[in-house]
Parts: sequence; C-alpha cells; structure tokens
Amino acid sequence: MASPTIYPEYPPSLNREQETFLLAELKDWTIAHGLAVRPPPSFIPGSQDPSGVLATTAPVTLFPSPFPRDAFDRGLQIQTAYNELYAAVSRDEEWLEEIVKQLLDIDDFVAKLWEIHAKVKADGYVQDLSLGLFRSDYMVHMDPARSNKQPEIKQVEFNTIASSFGGLSSKVSSLHKYLLSTEAYPHSSSQIINAANLPENRSIEGLATGLAKAHQAYGTSKTQRALCVLFVVQSSERNVFDQRLIEYELNSAHKVRTFRLPFSEIQRHTTLDYSRALIYSPPYTPKTSFEVTTIYYRAGYDPSDYPDAEAWSSRLHLERSLAIKCPSILTHLAGCKKVQQVLATPGSPHLSRFLRDEKLASSVLRTFAPIYPLDTSDAGNEAQKFATEVDTASRYVLKPQREGGGNNIYRRAIPAFLEKLPKSHWPAYILMEMIEPPALKNAILRNGEIQQGGVIGELGVYGVCLWRNGDGQTDKGEVLENFQAGYLLRTKGDKSEEGGVAAGFGAMDSCCLI
Ligand code: ADP
Ligand code: MG
Ligand code: MG
Repeated sequence: MASPTIYPEYPPSLNREQETFLLAELKDWTIAHGLAVRPPPSFIPGSQDPSGVLATTAPVTLFPSPFPRDAFDRGLQIQTAYNELYAAVSRDEEWLEEIVKQLLDIDDFVAKLWEIHAKVKADGYVQDLSLGLFRSDYMVHMDPARSNKQPEIKQVEFNTIASSFGGLSSKVSSLHKYLLSTEAYPHSSSQIINAANLPENRSIEGLATGLAKAHQAYGTSKTQRALCVLFVVQSSERNVFDQRLIEYELNSAHKVRTFRLPFSEIQRHTTLDYSRALIYSPPYTPKTSFEVTTIYYRAGYDPSDYPDAEAWSSRLHLERSLAIKCPSILTHLAGCKKVQQVLATPGSPHLSRFLRDEKLASSVLRTFAPIYPLDTSDAGNEAQKFATEVDTASRYVLKPQREGGGNNIYRRAIPAFLEKLPKSHWPAYILMEMIEPPALKNAILRNGEIQQGGVIGELGVYGVCLWRNGDGQTDKGEVLENFQAGYLLRTKGDKSEEGGVAAGFGAMDSCCLI
C-alpha cells in the first residue's frame, strides 16, 4: 500500500483548459443528477430566488480523496455490529435511564425527550417495531505507538436521528466516476484515480430499502386506508434533494407512497384514530387520507425545532402513534454523546452487555477514541484538569448532547468556556480526544468558487436496523433486519474544526482507495 500520509502529487494539477472542462462537466452533471442544495431562503435580503425555484451544486470536491483501503473495509464491515449495539441500547430502558438520569437536571432538551418517553410508556407503547437509519462517523488515525503505522479508523460519533447525506453521497461517488470516464482528470493521476479504486456506493438504495422494510413490517392498514411513509422535515431545509432522492427511490423501486410534512404542521394535518393509527390528510387532497406506517424524522433533533409547548405536543402525538418511528424516542436518546462515552469507557462491562460476541465487541472497541466524562468520578476529575489548562485542552473537543453540527467547543477555547459555565453543568458535556488524521490536499467547489489546500476527511458508514423491542422482561425483542447501507465521505479544510456540509464547513467527497 502507498504511504497513507501526505500525497505530494495529489490532487493532480490542472492547466486552465483542463480546469474549465472539468468544471463544466461537474456543474451540469450535479444539477442533472440532483447533487444539489437550495440556495439560502428567499426571505434573506438580496436573495436571488424569491420564487424558490433555484438549485445549486452542493459543495463537492473536484477529485475523490485518497482513503486507506483496509480502514475503509473495516468501517463497512463493522457497521452491522454497531447496528446491533445501538438496537440493544435502545431496547434497554433501564440502562439508558441510568445515563439519562445524570443529565435530567442539567440538560433541558434531554429531560424533555425523556419526559415524552415516560408519558408514552404510561399510556402503553402500541408499536413494538423500531427502525434505525444510522450513520457511524470516523476519521483516520495513525497510532504513533504502533511500529507498523497501519492507519486505523476512530469513531467521531454515532448518529441515530436524521443521519443525512445518504442521498447525495451515492451521487458524488457517481460524479467522480463520471469525471474519470470523460477523462476530465489528467492522465498523470491514473495511478491513483482509476475505476478499481472508486468503490460503489449504494446509500440511496440501502436507506430506501430500510424504510421499505419497515413499511412492509407494519402490515396491513388498520383503518382501510392507503398506506404511506411520512418524512417529517424542517420547514427551511436547504438539503432537500438529499431527502428527495431517498423518497423517489422508495416510490420507484418499492412502490411506497411518501409525503413530506414540516414538523410545525404535524398537528394540523395528522390525527390518531382509536387504535392510535396515525392518519395523514394531505392539505391538497383533503378528502383522501392515508395511514402512516413509518415516520422518518429529518427534523426534531435540534432544540430550535421545539419553539413552544405545541411543538413538544406534536412529538408526543407522533410517539404515541402506531406508526413505526425512525427513530423512536429511546433510539434518539441512545445517540447522546454521553452514551458513546460510557460505551467507550475502557474496561467497562457495558459493551459486552450489549454485544455478547467477544470478537464483535473487541472489533468495535478498537474503533473508540478516548472520551471522558466531566463529572466527579476519578476519570471525570482527571478530565477536568485537562480541560481547564489551555496547553492540555488543545488536544480535546468538548461536546454537549446535541446533533446537527455547530455545537462543540474546540481545543484552546475549552477552558474559557468552562470557566463561564456553572460547575454543576459540566457533566452535561463529554471531553473527547481530537483525532488527528493525516492531512491531504484537494480542491472544493463551493458557491461557484474553487478552494484549494489541506483537507481532512470524515468517513460515515450508513446502517439499517429494524427490530422488535419486546416487553423488556421475558421478551427481550429481536433484530429483524441488519445491514450496512453505503458510505459518505465529507471533506473539510484542515483549518476548520467542524465538518458539516450543510453548516458551510465541509464538502461532499468520495473515496479513492489506496
Ligand atoms: P454533531 O453531532 O454535531 O455532528 P460531531 O461529534 O460529529 O457532532 O462533531 C462535529 C464535527 O467536529 C465533526 O464532524 C468533526 O469534524 C469534528 N470532531 C468531532 N469530534 C472530533 C474528534 N474527536 N476529533 C476530531 N474532530 C472531531
Ligand atoms: Mg451527530
Ligand atoms: Mg457529526
């Protein structure tokens, strides 16, 4: 294998004509295939798109980025073990409660989510099935202590709700293959960029199949209505084509009817019948209503989705329903960074509680980076020392129990941040060692401009899991579907700590295995 550190020859340099040709190909292909986002919303002053009809190429890399083949294969292989792990965590209410309890008084959002679970439980859950469309995120890590210097993958986080970019990521893999086929890449790069090194990426098919499996598992209508899958979305979503690509695949390959409903409009357009079947009445055909088999949340993970009490009632309303939730409230909570920290605690019995197979457990263990609590345990006290000194804090990232990017505090900013935070609230955060992947170079097309320079990649692996929860007592439930569903590579400038594509930091990329 080639050296996994820096590739001085990568990406290949382009002369003016080559760059013009490659960009012309890229701009047309991305729009023609939906590798696109909406421009900023029309209410922003100076918007070019008052009618909301425009689309623009999503931030993308011009070239696929080199990624170590063994590490890539390991990430894909381990996904089914991660699916099993998080399905088991979600089913273990008692264990989750122990963790959530530590956050209840210091994290309002987590407390509210738990309250919803408690209310639905008091009423009795009517749906035993749960669906997870997960994404486990990694960075490449070179352990200096290991003499063979084999690159490994270390987990950044595990997403259990609204794991995005599964639509666009298939497309960016196809884009880079297309650019290769049109000879838009200079011949000098053919040693690295060749078709055999560009892995297939079937994330659209995989995620749509997951939703279709849940839809089928729901069974027949309880109310003699046509069945549908409901995408619950944010009203101001710009990353809409990413979701649409999955929806269209569900329609065409699985013949499943789908609808999109903004989170804020749930109560206006849905009702529960006496059996708690969720009935959706589309506003444009008010006389026809559908029974919802599966709720796919692409909203509801951020506190801003819940501006008032009505929004919380909407979440409760959906959770009480008979529809299969992707994810259920317990699975949503299983995605807390605190859960990842507890699972990653060295020598703890937690991992083996959920993964009985020792080999599986140890291969998952290998992907954990060091993560510490910020509580008054021994490990927590030690972590507090690291976090409050600027020199040591520079090796860490501080994370609250939030999703969607833009919430973390990085390196030298940590001590000043903690100083302003009452100490009683520190345990709402976890402290994680920064993974320092080898820097590569690439070129990113963003808002029509090319940015070139050092970049860092983050691999995401999608997983689909459908399971029965059981009653938690005699019936411990069972996993019905468990498969890996493609990958995502996001690439960001090496000066940026955050990697979110939607948040404007990262770009969609694909892997060139080396
Ligand atoms: P979110 O759920 O908001 O996406 P993440 O844990 O993924 O939170 O953190 C956001 C970004 O911060 C990641 O995409 C990555 O770029 C960076 N990051 C997070 N943890 C680490 C880490 N341990 N090492 C290096 N970068 C990290
Ligand atoms: Mg996340
Ligand atoms: Mg993330």
